[in-house]
Amino acid sequence: VFVCFEGGEGGGKSTQSRLLRDRLAEEGYAVRLTHEPGDTPVGKDLRRIVLSPETGALAHKTEFLLYAADKAEHVETLVLPALDRGEVVLTDRYVDSTLAYQGAGRALDRDELEEVSRWATGDLRPHLTVVLDLEPEAGLGRFEERDRIEGEGLAFHQRVRQSFLDLAAHDPEHYLVVDARRSIDEIAALIAERVAPLLVQ
Ligand code: C5P
Repeated sequence: VFVCFEGGEGGGKSTQSRLLRDRLAEEGYAVRLTHEPGDTPVGKDLRRIVLSPETGALAHKTEFLLYAADKAEHVETLVLPALDRGEVVLTDRYVDSTLAYQGAGRALDRDELEEVSRWATGDLRPHLTVVLDLEPEAGLGRFEERDRIEGEGLAFHQRVRQSFLDLAAHDPEHYLVVDARRSIDEIAALIAERVAPLLVQ
C-alpha cells in the first residue's frame, strides 16, 4: 500500500505522515516513511542543489529535471523495494508536488511534466493521496516556510494550492482533502479512517 502526503508549506505533512507511521507500526504493520526530494543518497545531493539559496535561480526545466531525477532514484531504490517486501510506504510529497510547483507554480506544460514524471516513476501511483489543504498565508509557520513563501510570492503559492485541490477534485476515489486548520488529532483520525480499508486488501 502506497500513500502520499501532499500540500503546500506548513500544512503538517511531516507531522501527519509520522503519526500515521507510528499508528500503523503499533498495529503491527511494517511501515516505511519517506519523503521527496532527498530521501536517497543521490537525492540528498539533488535536494541541496535545488533548494539551497547558494544555487540561485535555476532554469525551470533544470529544476524540474532534478526533481524528476530524485523521483526516479526514490522510486526505484527505495519505494518499490519496500512495496515488494509488503511494507506500507508513506511518502511526504510525490508526483503531485511536481505538477503543482513546477506545473501550476512555474507554468511548465502540465502534460509534459506528467509524461516525464510518469516515466521517471515507472507510472507507480499511490493508492491514496492525502492533501493537507491550507491557505498559503496560514502556512507561514516556520522561518524556512516564511522564507520560501515570501521568495516565490503569494500568487505562486495560491496556484500551487489550487493545483492540489484540482487534482483531488478530478479523482476523489484516490484523494482525501483535509482542512489543515483542524486539530492534529482530528486530522490524524480522518486519515487513519480513510487508510484502514486499504490495508485489508
Ligand atoms: O516538503 P519539504 O519542505 O521538504 O519541501 C521542500 C520544498 O521543495 C517545498 O517547499 C517546495 O517549495 C519545493 N518543491 C518543489 N517541487 C517539488 C517538490 C518540492 O518546488 N516537486
